Amino acid sequence: MIVPIPVHCMACGIQLKNEIPPGEDRLRGVCPDCGTIHYRNPKVVVGTIIEDAGRVLLCRRAIEPAEGLWTPPAGFLEMSESMEAGAARETMEEAGADVAIIRTFARIDLTRIGQVHEMFLARLKSPEVTAGAESLEVKWFTWDEIPWSELAFPVVEWILRLRAEDLASDQDRIHRGCLHWKEVGSPLSLENYDLNDIQSLHLAL
Ligand SMILES: [Zn+2]
Repeated sequence: MIVPIPVHCMACGIQLKNEIPPGEDRLRGVCPDCGTIHYRNPKVVVGTIIEDAGRVLLCRRAIEPAEGLWTPPAGFLEMSESMEAGAARETMEEAGADVAIIRTFARIDLTRIGQVHEMFLARLKSPEVTAGAESLEVKWFTWDEIPWSELAFPVVEWILRLRAEDLASDQDRIHRGCLHWKEVGSPLSLENYDLNDIQSLHLAL
């Protein structure tokens, strides 16, 4: 979901004017009545990669966008919530899984749609998992079974590929990168992104 351009004032409901506020460098929706300036800023998405006995837990989405496709449990961070708490909450909501966060795994900027994704490694505190309202099913996959052609979003594919690489090469790393769409080809395909600014930091454990 791309953050929508606001039309009406969030504070008083009046139609906004597009103008560059003093000292700024871009158009904002400014309320001609109460003066509230409406900023459009990226949203934070948090989620978990849950591993157990060489498998990873994925959810099949019951909602658009990408209905019917697979993703680790993830969703938008709420107000007053830490990233870890948000990731655990989304995991409970979508996969019915009670998890302990182990550590951060990847932070990816999605500049095209204005999102920052922070994914954590997590482990189950109890073995039950069940599809939540936004999931058609939840399922464990070995790393050889990942449905690469049926993943929900390019960022999901990139993050799972990074984790698969780390496990295959027995490395513990934290990744930080940006998905730069090349502006050619479908933005829903990872191959149409420049992934070159990835930084992968080895953890000393
Ligand atoms: Zn207003």
